[in-house]
Amino acid sequence: MEAISKNFFLYLSNNSTFDRLAKRFGSKFGADRIVGGETFPMAIPLIKQLNHEGLAVTVDHLGEFVNSETEARARAQEGIETIQAIASHELNSEMSLKLTSLGLDINRELVIENMEKILEEAKKYGVTVTIDMEDSSRTKATLDIYKELKTRYDALGTVIQSYLYRSEDYVEELNEYNPYLRLVKGAYKEPGTVAFPDKRMVDENLKGLIKKNLLNGNYTAIASHDDAIIDYTKQLVKEHGITNDQFEFQMLYGMRYQTQLNLLKEGYKVRVYMPYGEDWYGYFMRRLAERPANITFALKGMFTK
Ligand SMILES: Cc1cc2nc3c(=O)[nH]c(=O)nc-3n(C[C@H](O)[C@H](O)[C@H](O)COP(=O)(O)OP(=O)(O)OC[C@H]3O[C@@H](n4cnc5c(N)ncnc54)[C@H](O)[C@@H]3O)c2cc1C
Repeated sequence: MEAISKNFFLYLSNNSTFDRLAKRFGSKFGADRIVGGETFPMAIPLIKQLNHEGLAVTVDHLGEFVNSETEARARAQEGIETIQAIASHELNSEMSLKLTSLGLDINRELVIENMEKILEEAKKYGVTVTIDMEDSSRTKATLDIYKELKTRYDALGTVIQSYLYRSEDYVEELNEYNPYLRLVKGAYKEPGTVAFPDKRMVDENLKGLIKKNLLNGNYTAIASHDDAIIDYTKQLVKEHGITNDQFEFQMLYGMRYQTQLNLLKEGYKVRVYMPYGEDWYGYFMRRLAERPANITFALKGMFTK
């Protein structure tokens, strides 16, 4: 049953007709519980509140299905404006983005040009940028672009997904770039030819990646809501004398808030990933696919304002 609902929501996440409908209706249906708002100004008070609690943030302007050069350039401009707003409102926030929103599916030069504009602005204001990882057909292109840009822009991170068989190789290959890596299990529907079909393997592999990247001496974001992963990390850093300034925990906005606060109290750094934007639909469907319990509040959202 769980597998059926997961596949169903992952199928919906890629459906552009539903995406268009969702835009028309706005972020009701519970999406506003896990999305910061449809515009960045809507998200600012929420970010300020999280910062006030001691939580760092990374904002992500949601955007999928970008297939025109004009739109990709507009996305880059919006990224620049977000960085300026982070600076002018003195927010404790990084910025996350997806390369497809900047033209990855159109051409490589366009993405590089858009990223350079964003990273120049980020450098000016001291804002760190992280490139999210999308589905496996884009992993290699994303990592190649990351490597190219990382030699010129230090405050740049990316993501490795432990469900990929090749994830350990990726962590190893990136080591010479002193990467800032966010390590996750992976959110897309992937075939058995590239990803572990067994969830236990994905979990074990994530532990291995966390250990490898931390022992390589690279700053690591452990992005998981899973207590087993969090407890593993706490034990690992204790055993190896890894200090709290070498890693952070990351969780999605609207998920496990009390756990986030508890980790803060224990002295760990915690960052909340807050998506915003009109394109909330695909993100929302992937979260439903991951955790059918999220459906409860989604359904409640359909009938309440
Ligand atoms: C900050 C951040 C950034 C991410 N960036 C990317 C990315 O760039 N690319 C990508 O592919 N994926 C990304 N992801 C998604 C990630 O790959 C996983 O799909 C997602 O985090 C679910 O895996 P999990 O490790 O949190 O726990 P799961 O394996 O989903 O769950 C394990 C256990 O954790 C507990 N749990 C999980 N969620 C909750 C909850 N909401 N409330 C209470 N308990 C819960 C439950 O006990 C559950 O059984 C990101 C995730 C985070 C947190």
